[in-house]
Amino acid sequence: MPSISAAALAPSALVSAALDLALPPACAGCSLEGVLLCERCAAPLVSRLSLAPGVRMGLRAEAPPSIAQLEWCAPFSGSVRAALHQLKYGGERRLARPLAEAMAARWRVAGAGGDLICPVPVHADRERRRGYDQAVLLSESLARHLGLPCERALRRARNTRPQFELGRKARLTNVSGAFELSRRIPAWRLRGRWVVLVDDVATTGSTLAACAEVLYDAGAVAVSALTVARER
Ligand SMILES: [Zn+2]
Repeated sequence: MPSISAAALAPSALVSAALDLALPPACAGCSLEGVLLCERCAAPLVSRLSLAPGVRMGLRAEAPPSIAQLEWCAPFSGSVRAALHQLKYGGERRLARPLAEAMAARWRVAGAGGDLICPVPVHADRERRRGYDQAVLLSESLARHLGLPCERALRRARNTRPQFELGRKARLTNVSGAFELSRRIPAWRLRGRWVVLVDDVATTGSTLAACAEVLYDAGAVAVSALTVARER
């Protein structure tokens, strides 16, 4: 990694985005040149494709009760973890497409319903600094694959600490009340809808539950969730 951050040099997020897209890709898992994610490193993303919906992993906490269904493509490890890291912190937004394709494939075989895709948003400050919100990129690509509308219905009311820094109990209080309805869309658009929340990783599900609470308050009839990875 260079000692001077790319963000400090970039005249604007837009220009840095254009530069990122012009660079030839290298595999996020093994650095193989010419691909974003090589076949070997992408293999874990299809490892759960043939499993029945809701297969348990021996996790201490399965999905919180407010989440009708939680589906994911792969465990949060190895090349998938590296790819998500590149998507979130490495500026490699092109990875959203293959990752969303894997999500769409899993949802087609396991998704029980849903008529609206909604990203779990990062805080607006973080999106501004990064130039994008990775959950929005995943959601928009996924929505195109599934032929569903994508609505940025939620916003982060306050900046929370990253969940991975916290223990299980602290994670719950960290995100409780952290989300609110976005001013971008009128609340009636959620009434009677079955929302599919989209995020990169799910751990305890407390972030998803905090989002679901807001969606139910706005009249959603069900909330499911789909993530790229699930952390044990
Ligand atoms: Zn690779």
